[in-house]
Amino acid sequence: MKNVVLFGPPGAGKGTQAEVIKLKYDLFHISTGDVFRNNIKNNTDLGLLAKGYMNKGELVPDEITINMLSEVVEKNIHVNGFIFDGFPRTESQAITLDKLLGKFNTSISGMIALEVNDEILINRLLERGKGSGRADDSNREIIENRINEYYTKTAILKTYYQRKNCYYGVDGVGSIEEITSRIVDAMSKL
Ligand code: ADP
Repeated sequence: MKNVVLFGPPGAGKGTQAEVIKLKYDLFHISTGDVFRNNIKNNTDLGLLAKGYMNKGELVPDEITINMLSEVVEKNIHVNGFIFDGFPRTESQAITLDKLLGKFNTSISGMIALEVNDEILINRLLERGKGSGRADDSNREIIENRINEYYTKTAILKTYYQRKNCYYGVDGVGSIEEITSRIVDAMSKL
């Protein structure tokens, strides 16, 4: 199995690139943000729980996120491989993911990280907010909170995967096609 963590701050372009990469490599795409948003749309208990955190730009608590993710992985374990988009976002999520995949005798092949500076991120998210209707893209304060969550809880995962020798940084600024081809380059090393 090829299991890839697509990593980067909010607005780095993970969702856009995951759509392309999943088709190219026949991988199963899990976006935790999309799963939460679908649950919110359908008014499920999980959606109700997640909504309060998401709309403030905070991370959903680990226990809730981990349970949800584990269920999706276990249900789909017979696929070619996974693209994890928006997960893990904390060290505890990363440790859980390793254990979960270990149970099925597989592991993370690599983390591909899209690197984009904060100013570009904020502008991209404000722009997306104009059309997407996403509450968390609607104002600068919420966006800054998400970026702050990223630096305080998520960014350390770079070290986590570097220690495992499977961190691949990719310049996330350029056209969609340029960035895809950088990711394809990184994928060839996994
Ligand atoms: P973005 O990468 O643009 O922030 P996502 O769709 O990945 O967008 O995530 C949106 C929100 O969903 C996050 O701000 C957070 O509240 C919640 N979320 C998504 N993934 C996780 C996760 N792994 N752990 C905790 N919260 C998460």
